[in-house]
Amino acid sequence: MTDANKECPEFPFFGASYPDATCNNGYLWDLDSCDEPGGPLFSGGDYPCPFCNFEKHVERSAENLWNESEQMTPLRARTLAADGLNAFRKRHGFHTAPYTPHDGEFS
Ligand SMILES: [Zn+2]
Repeated sequence: MTDANKECPEFPFFGASYPDATCNNGYLWDLDSCDEPGGPLFSGGDYPCPFCNFEKHVERSAENLWNESEQMTPLRARTLAADGLNAFRKRHGFHTAPYTPHDGEFS
């Protein structure tokens, strides 16, 4: 069985201590952004899913890291983001994703 057949798990992401993020078409949505349990979600769709949208998630996290530190290079930021995300995937029983960090500018 490969990860491609696995459903993306729900996990804490939007600031709650319990799983408050769910994946919909590769992007995360806030489970607390509904009017009633199980109702439509109003907040999300911006952040790529760490399980099925790995490279986009790394790019987004790396850009955040790069913005936060003047000493950070794009290559270092992508390396840190990919390592952190692969550790996170392992904790959820997913394989680590192959990824080669590069030093290109963030778009
Ligand atoms: Zn997903």
